[in-house]
Amino acid sequence: MGLKDILRLGDPRLYKISSPVFKSEVDSLRPSIEMLHNALMEFREMYGAGRAVAAPQIGVLKRLIYLNIDKPIIIINPELSDFSEKKIDVWDDCLCFPGLLVKVKRAEKLKLKFRDENWEEHEWNLKGDLSELIQHEYDHLDGILAMQRAVDDKSFKIKKGLSL
Ligand SMILES: [Zn+2]
Repeated sequence: MGLKDILRLGDPRLYKISSPVFKSEVDSLRPSIEMLHNALMEFREMYGAGRAVAAPQIGVLKRLIYLNIDKPIIIINPELSDFSEKKIDVWDDCLCFPGLLVKVKRAEKLKLKFRDENWEEHEWNLKGDLSELIQHEYDHLDGILAMQRAVDDKSFKIKKGLSL
C-alpha cells in the first residue's frame, strides 16, 4: 500500500464530492489514514515534495486530509472561512499528476476549522504556504483539481529535473 494507491489524473473519482466523516466511523478510517501516510512518504522519497494528501486521492470519498509537515495531523471535516482579499500566485503540484505544475491563485490567508482523529476541535489561522496547501487539499474534497483553477491556458509546466 502506498503511492500505487493514488488515483491519477483522469480517474472519474477525483471529480466527485466527498461526504462528511461521522465520529463513529473514525476508527474504520484508520487503514485509509495509514494508506495516505504511506503514499505521502513514498511520494516524498521519489519527488522530494509532498506535505499533504486528501482521502479522495485514494478513492475514499470522505472529508479527511492527511497533513504531515513535521508531524502527522489528521484534518477531518475542514471548514474554510475568512479568505483574505489578497491573493497569491502559486505553482501547485499534486500526487495525482506528479511532475506537472499548475499556476493557480489562492487566498494568502484564511481560517481553518476542523476536528482531529480524537474528535477534538481546532481552529487555525493560516497564511502563505499553509493557506495555499489547505486550499489545494480542500478542493480535492469537492472534486476540484488544480487545473480547474489554472490562471490561464498557459499555466502549466513540467517540473525541472524530472526524468520522464
Ligand atoms: Zn492534490
